[in-house]
Amino acid sequence: MVQFINGTEIFTEEGTTVLKAARNAGIHIPTLCYLEGINDVASCRLCVVEAEGEDALLTACSTPVREGMEIHTDSPRVISARRAALKLILASHEANCFICPKNGDCELQAVCREYGIEPEQYGRKSAPEKTRRFHPFLTYRPELCIHCERCVSTCEKATGRKAIGRGRAGLAAIIETPFGEGWDTSLCESCGNCAQNCPTGAIIERRRTKYRAWEVTKVRTTCPHCAVGCQMNLVVKDGRVVDVEGADGPSNRGLLCVKGRSGSFDFIDSPERIRTPLIKNPETGAFEPADWDTALDLVAEKFTAIRNTYGGEALAGFACSRSTNEDIYMLQKMVRTAFNSNNTDNCARV
Ligand code: SF4
Ligand code: SF4
Ligand code: SF4
Repeated sequence: MVQFINGTEIFTEEGTTVLKAARNAGIHIPTLCYLEGINDVASCRLCVVEAEGEDALLTACSTPVREGMEIHTDSPRVISARRAALKLILASHEANCFICPKNGDCELQAVCREYGIEPEQYGRKSAPEKTRRFHPFLTYRPELCIHCERCVSTCEKATGRKAIGRGRAGLAAIIETPFGEGWDTSLCESCGNCAQNCPTGAIIERRRTKYRAWEVTKVRTTCPHCAVGCQMNLVVKDGRVVDVEGADGPSNRGLLCVKGRSGSFDFIDSPERIRTPLIKNPETGAFEPADWDTALDLVAEKFTAIRNTYGGEALAGFACSRSTNEDIYMLQKMVRTAFNSNNTDNCARV
């Protein structure tokens, strides 16, 4: 199908939305509620575009392209409508970017900047009293919630838990667990995907208050916890990992489980971490630090003795799924060639 976006001829497949067609062509249309494949409620109205022959503006995220459509994404009418939508969103948002943990990494703030709107100028000055929700890992601040429902859709469609939903109506609207039960005792499994997909500071990981966006660098890596191979960014401040965020990898598409997001970095600087091999003193029974050469010689000597006395079948090697493919390959190679045994496996296989 052929359409024209801002006068440029674009070819798209039938069923493609105006938003996707524009993005494929490198044309920017702002969104706050839209999340591809997860949330398409078309509530923020920021993606409105003008189509020739149509009286009303159309939401690009929910309108499929039609043959010959002529679309304008940045006409004066479109810009004016987006500015009005932003002011309406801000009317129920208690903006104070200076003290907000999301400052510098907030999608609402970024769109406001794009359209020359100060969040504090149009933000609600004193929101109706609503209680914050706490969780061992997360905080929900209703005064910052723009009710885009990205968190709700993420929990339902991406995480598959349905732990949170939209409760109450009008100004009292709030994101909460069914029947308002405790977040920590609900179906929530603490994955934090809702926080990662929240475009504002409304749901954040609690540790997020300890750094600001401009203080950190991000290092792409693979989650060390299991064999799924989720991609993640380590968030590093002053040489220390202070947070983790899901990155877009083929097996995780930006999502993480609780282990990847909250159980994969605290141990790095733990004083309890074992940093040298330990060898048990046969006289006292206590483990004592040793250097690597001594420890490896001892282990090799014991394995060799077992193999020579009982045969290779007495030995086995079981690799950990947290290891890399290369390390796991090396382990099975050692088992087959040094132990003379085929007793080797990997817990990732099960
Ligand atoms: S959520 Fe965004 S716009 Fe709102 S106060 Fe925080 S940084 Fe500012
Ligand atoms: S942390 Fe995960 S399971 Fe809990 S509410 Fe958020 S998305 Fe749902
Ligand atoms: S908590 Fe965040 S993601 Fe959820 S509805 Fe509010 S602003 Fe949207």
